[in-house]
Amino acid sequence: MHKLNTAAAALVIAATLCSQEKNPGYTDTPILPDGFRVHDANRPRPPVVDPGPGAETPARAPKDAIILFDGSDLKAWRGRKGDAAWKLVEGGAMEVARTGDIQTREDFGDCQLHLEWMAPPPKGHSQGRGNSGVFFCGRYEVQVLDSFENPTYADGQAAAIYGQKPPLVNVTRPPGQWNVYDIVFVAPRFTDDGALKSPAKLTVVHNGVVVQLDEELLGPTSHKSLPKYRAHPPRGPIKLQDHGNPMRFRNIWVRPLRLERPAASTRSK
Ligand code: MG
Repeated sequence: MHKLNTAAAALVIAATLCSQEKNPGYTDTPILPDGFRVHDANRPRPPVVDPGPGAETPARAPKDAIILFDGSDLKAWRGRKGDAAWKLVEGGAMEVARTGDIQTREDFGDCQLHLEWMAPPPKGHSQGRGNSGVFFCGRYEVQVLDSFENPTYADGQAAAIYGQKPPLVNVTRPPGQWNVYDIVFVAPRFTDDGALKSPAKLTVVHNGVVVQLDEELLGPTSHKSLPKYRAHPPRGPIKLQDHGNPMRFRNIWVRPLRLERPAASTRSK
């Protein structure tokens, strides 16, 4: 009897592991406005598209960009307690060092961000493999994940707006190759009494391919729960996530955006 129970338990564990591998995600989380659950195990995963090889050396930043990281130091960043303690490594890159998230010393609102990231050799699976993230205003995460032949829930894969919107396609390059994100973030606006006036918006180009286009966010990105806006200042730090995996980043720059154009009355006569 005992032996039978052990065998049955082993079967259950094997079946669970198998279903995790095949269909990672949840079937008991709250339902998003689009009808899918948060991290829905049954949400279709975006089609895979080969973006072609990346550039050997990073492209130069535009002249008006604020350089957040060019390989020389981590001066633009800080950790939770003091200086950023991620490692500087070869190739003008930095590596997550299990010392916690890092964030920019300067605050940004509406902006265009360029960032390149690389996953280490595959270890683990789903969210446990090559996980990091880039957060705008410290709250709104574009997922960084090794999504090369690594099934996970669709709203948690690389270039997803975490827990809200999967990317349109999966263009993740293999581990050991550089991925490029070009992201346009529009910060949410709030009324004086704290109500939401307009939601945050994200456009993401991953390895030269549009994967999020002017997507409205439902609120700060969150794990296994529905997002909910809370008023915050118009600018906040850009944050990189330490999820315990030795992810690398290079060539990070940002251009604050002024979205209002001059009015006709101001033109020179
Ligand atoms: Mg993440």
